[in-house]
Amino acid sequence: MSEINRAVKGTGDVLPEDSYKWQLVEGKMLETARLFGFKEIRIPVFEHTEVFLRSVGDTTDVVQKEMYTFDDKGGRSITLRPEFTAGVIRCAIEKGLVNGALPVKAAYVGGCYRYEKPQAGRLREFHQFGVECIGAAEPSADAEVIALAGQVLEALGIEELSLEINSIGCPECRKEYEAALKAYFLSHIDSLCDTCRDRLSRNPMRILDCKSPVCSEIAAKAPVVTDYLCGECRSHFEAVQSHLAAAGIEFKINPHIVRGLDYYTRTVFEFVSGGIGAQSTVCGGGRYDGLISQMGGPNIPSLGFAMGIERIMLLLEAQGTKLPKETDCDLYIAAVDGKAQLTATGLSASLRRDGFKIQTDICGRSLKAQMKFADKINADFSAVIGESELESGKVRLKNMKTGEETETGLNDISEALREAIRSQTLKELEDSVLK
Ligand code: ATP
Ligand code: MG
Repeated sequence: MSEINRAVKGTGDVLPEDSYKWQLVEGKMLETARLFGFKEIRIPVFEHTEVFLRSVGDTTDVVQKEMYTFDDKGGRSITLRPEFTAGVIRCAIEKGLVNGALPVKAAYVGGCYRYEKPQAGRLREFHQFGVECIGAAEPSADAEVIALAGQVLEALGIEELSLEINSIGCPECRKEYEAALKAYFLSHIDSLCDTCRDRLSRNPMRILDCKSPVCSEIAAKAPVVTDYLCGECRSHFEAVQSHLAAAGIEFKINPHIVRGLDYYTRTVFEFVSGGIGAQSTVCGGGRYDGLISQMGGPNIPSLGFAMGIERIMLLLEAQGTKLPKETDCDLYIAAVDGKAQLTATGLSASLRRDGFKIQTDICGRSLKAQMKFADKINADFSAVIGESELESGKVRLKNMKTGEETETGLNDISEALREAIRSQTLKELEDSVLK
């Protein structure tokens, strides 16, 4: 196949047959976010490269290896968003949200771009749902944001997830920890990968997040950050745990979670699943109290999370979850010839204005082929317009499941269809209750 017929490596399509699943999942996400007061924000797919350099951090995998960066025709360095937080904070500062009523609660859904090695659950274009809660310092905020992530995953019916939390402290208490880490990794410097050797002087905590097996093995025995927390960070972390318990949320403390981006402080967390192999983190987040001032805004705290929608889709599929699907077609209107088709066109237009899902022939098919097509698209009802219907002004609505037919005037078809759908739905409901 030539390139013109092939999607770019690491990208995917959502076919018309499957898009209802995405709409459902994304709808559930934003709907749950609204229960917590988070409203949708929409930001550009690309930003000035500096936005990500300054926030995500230049010792991270994202910045070192994964960004889609190019010069536009005006000579500006532009980057496709590898994540949303940086863009949302840029927007919140630029539009003055950070100076208004706090907290600012924003939720987002959309595509992200990272040049990674594509595999199941790891793509070059992928989609995230996430939130940012700007201007809330209290431990109850951490618990609220974690509770929202948990409720989204629960609402989607995702099973066997575990919540792991950690505190990576503030820049103050991290100084001592970083010194301890440096000393530890220096004693293993010969075994570290090249990238991690570079990280050792610039940002030793990054080594804890290295995916290479040798580095991970060394990192597993490294000093843990929770042993180095200052008094304030420790009591913040303890209070987060109390609030989680108050909200009835189970969690595990995992002192090895550091997250992949540089801007995190204090609480970090992940929702991890056993069900999708190596790419097991479906949601990651935490606090980034220094980010807003680092990006030129006021010194206010902030926190958030992001979840990978493709990974959630994989989980739902692996679990065999059936997402409810609405009908694609309430009524298929077949026509025997060109004259009847004109009537079908008129009826279709008027019924669609009434809110029904209507299809009729637009491919010049024979009556037999039209009926076959109605079957194929799973139309709930069908009606045939022929000479006798045109003459009598009456038409029969056929229930495609039961074969049952009801006659109605062409002018009353809207009410008749509504009634037919209603009684079919009632019947199905009764059947399912009786079962
Ligand atoms: P990982 O350790 O798996 O690379 P990350 O730490 O880079 O994840 P974040 O930047 O925190 O991930 O992004 C949040 C979520 O977005 C992840 O938990 C994951 O579900 C999803 N995600 C990240 N990168 C990809 C990708 N390349 N393809 C699909 N989903 C992704
Ligand atoms: Mg990554």
